[in-house]
Amino acid sequence: VMASMAHLQKEKLRLQEELLELQEKLAAKENNEISLSLQLQGQVETLKAKLLEQAQEISRLRSELGGTDAEKHRDLLAAENERLRQEMKACEGELRELQRQQQAPCRDCPHLQENAGLQEQLSQLQREAEETRAKLVELDLEVQQKTNRLAEVELRLKDSLAERAEEEERLSRRLRDSQETIASLKNQPQQIKYIIKTVEVESAKAKQALCETQSRNQYLQEQVGMQKQVLKEMEQQLQRSQKTEAQLRAQIMMYEAELERAHGQMLEEMQAMEEEKNHAIEEAFSRAQVEMKAVHENLAGVRTNLLTLQPALRTLTHDYNSLKRQVRDFPMLLQETLRSARAEISQAIEEVHSTNRELLRKYRRELQLRKKCHNELVRLKGNIRVFGRVRPITKEDGEGPEAANAVTFDADDDAVLYLLHKGKQVSFELDKVFPPQASQEEVFQEVQALVTSCIDGYNVCIFAYGQTGAGKTYTMEGTAANPGINQRALQLLFSEVRGKAADWDYAITVSAAEIYNEALRDLLGKEPQEKLEIKLCPDGSGQLYVPGLTEFRVQSVEDINKVFEFGHVKRVTECTNLNEHSSRSHALLIVTVRGLDRSTGLRTTGKLNLVDLAGSERVGRSGAEGSRLREAQHINKSLSALGDVIYALRSRQGHVPFRNSKLTYLLQDSLSGDSKTLMMVQVSPAEKNTSETLCSLKFAERVRSVELGPVSRKAELSSWPSQEHLEVLKTLLVPVLQQPHASPGRAHASPSPGQLSSRSASIRRKLQTSG
Ligand code: ADP
Ligand code: MG
Repeated sequence: VMASMAHLQKEKLRLQEELLELQEKLAAKENNEISLSLQLQGQVETLKAKLLEQAQEISRLRSELGGTDAEKHRDLLAAENERLRQEMKACEGELRELQRQQQAPCRDCPHLQENAGLQEQLSQLQREAEETRAKLVELDLEVQQKTNRLAEVELRLKDSLAERAEEEERLSRRLRDSQETIASLKNQPQQIKYIIKTVEVESAKAKQALCETQSRNQYLQEQVGMQKQVLKEMEQQLQRSQKTEAQLRAQIMMYEAELERAHGQMLEEMQAMEEEKNHAIEEAFSRAQVEMKAVHENLAGVRTNLLTLQPALRTLTHDYNSLKRQVRDFPMLLQETLRSARAEISQAIEEVHSTNRELLRKYRRELQLRKKCHNELVRLKGNIRVFGRVRPITKEDGEGPEAANAVTFDADDDAVLYLLHKGKQVSFELDKVFPPQASQEEVFQEVQALVTSCIDGYNVCIFAYGQTGAGKTYTMEGTAANPGINQRALQLLFSEVRGKAADWDYAITVSAAEIYNEALRDLLGKEPQEKLEIKLCPDGSGQLYVPGLTEFRVQSVEDINKVFEFGHVKRVTECTNLNEHSSRSHALLIVTVRGLDRSTGLRTTGKLNLVDLAGSERVGRSGAEGSRLREAQHINKSLSALGDVIYALRSRQGHVPFRNSKLTYLLQDSLSGDSKTLMMVQVSPAEKNTSETLCSLKFAERVRSVELGPVSRKAELSSWPSQEHLEVLKTLLVPVLQQPHASPGRAHASPSPGQLSSRSASIRRKLQTSG
């Protein structure tokens, strides 16, 4: 910055010198111009005087000369005029030359050259300023201002040039004016005009030169003033930068002083810290010495302690070693204990096992005995039981006297039923009578024991007998909302089997068949029209079987429903009128329960035959013909055959006519031996059905008439005996056996005392063996 300042200073001085020079030149020029103007003024004065003289001369001549002379004068004037015109032309040429001269010196005017030099300098300055701009932003800005100003100067220069052009314009205008004046003077004497002209021209020229110089002078003065201003600004700038420099210097000084002060402080602090450090070291040293002393003392105490602890440690190690040995021996000890415990446990288990075996053996024996007793009891009661069920009066019975109720019951005896037939009341006695209000559930409760005995390996037959519309199908199948014996029996079997699942494996299978016109058909088979045959087993066991009869294994109620649905659908599709057909055929549901006792390997097979018999109504022999008659004959034959078989069985006849019908032949196994049979005689209570009701009840009585065993009605249980009734039965049976004649009951055929005694003896024997 200082260097640029110095440079600028130098430049300034140079410019000032130049300025002085220019001023001197300007002053010289001014003097020159002033003298020139004075000269021109003098000339103008003389010209004016001459003009005046000429004017006087003209006026004198005008007065002297007459008209003729006027013509001469006129010629003279014309010549003069011509001359003046030439002169004017010359003047014009001179004027043009002058103008040219005026323009020419402007081109190589010393001012312009100066100006150019100045511009160059200025640009140089600008360049320098640009160089310094990086160093000083303020200076740069000012240089920018300078350049702006320079541009202004240039503009002004241009303006002055324009002004000069204007001036020239003005001059030309004036020339034109003077030409006009000359034209006006044409009428005047030539000489005067000429003089005036020259005077005018000369004065104009002088004036113009004067003006120009004045304007140039003014312009130069302006420039000088501008330069001065620039100079002043630069000086100011210089001053400012000097001032800032001084400020900076002062700051630096201040900082240095501060630095020195800080350095001094630091030194002081360091010294203080050094002192502190020394002090602290001394203190720590003294403290450490004290502590050392204390530690030494402690150490001595610990040493004495150690000496006393050593014996204790020795005993501890001893203890520890013994414990270690114990721990090492512990697993062995544990194993030994475990072994003995195991042996004890296994012995105990063995004992328990043997007791269990013994118990199981006893239990099986008891079971066997129970079964035997049960059988005996059932035999005593009669293996064949006959129930009656009266359905309620329905809408189908119609109204009026025909639909009147003809059946009444005994309030004290649920085995007696009264039928009002042709004005006479006939009483019937069965094993049990269900009134119309008896529910399916109640009916099934009486049948339950029979069904469960099937699980024990007994064959069971349940028949529904009665005229069409008496409620056979209702009792056996029931409705979806209120199922009958079929479904309830299977449900019971499932639940019983589930209860015994711990010891027994059971398989329940279901077959459905139909006997129509003495032909056996499979209701679950693929070809229901096919007639099946009943054959003897080829193994020589004397058992019967039906080759080709479909058996379905069922495990749940859903399975049974499916089977029933299937059979029903088959029957419906095969028959045009199901009701008609079903009343003319026997429908059989055969449930086989095969069991295996896993502990003993004992196998049992029980069969439950649920038979919905054909309608028992008698068909008028005279009225019926053809197929209807044949149907009736078949039904009649098979039903009476069934009656005969049951009668023969119940009366223990040597020959049982099983082969008299397909139905009895098929059910031979399930009717003979230890088998149990229930005949459910369905009756309608309606007045119009009394004769058929009478027939059905007579059939029931005929089947039942051969009452076996001495058991009186009072001693009878309401249902088939089950396990829990055994004890009760024993107590009940003993007095009966001891006093065979005590209670003969209402048996129709009382057995002889001899029969009874031998029978009771065998029972007693059996009961005694059971313990
Ligand atoms: P069957 O099979 O002997 O020809 P159904 O079982 O078809 O007779 O019974 C005939 C009508 O009587 C059916 O509408 C049935 O619902 C009705 N019915 C039978 N027994 C009863 C009863 N105990 N309670 C209510 N309605 C019964
Ligand atoms: Mg029916």
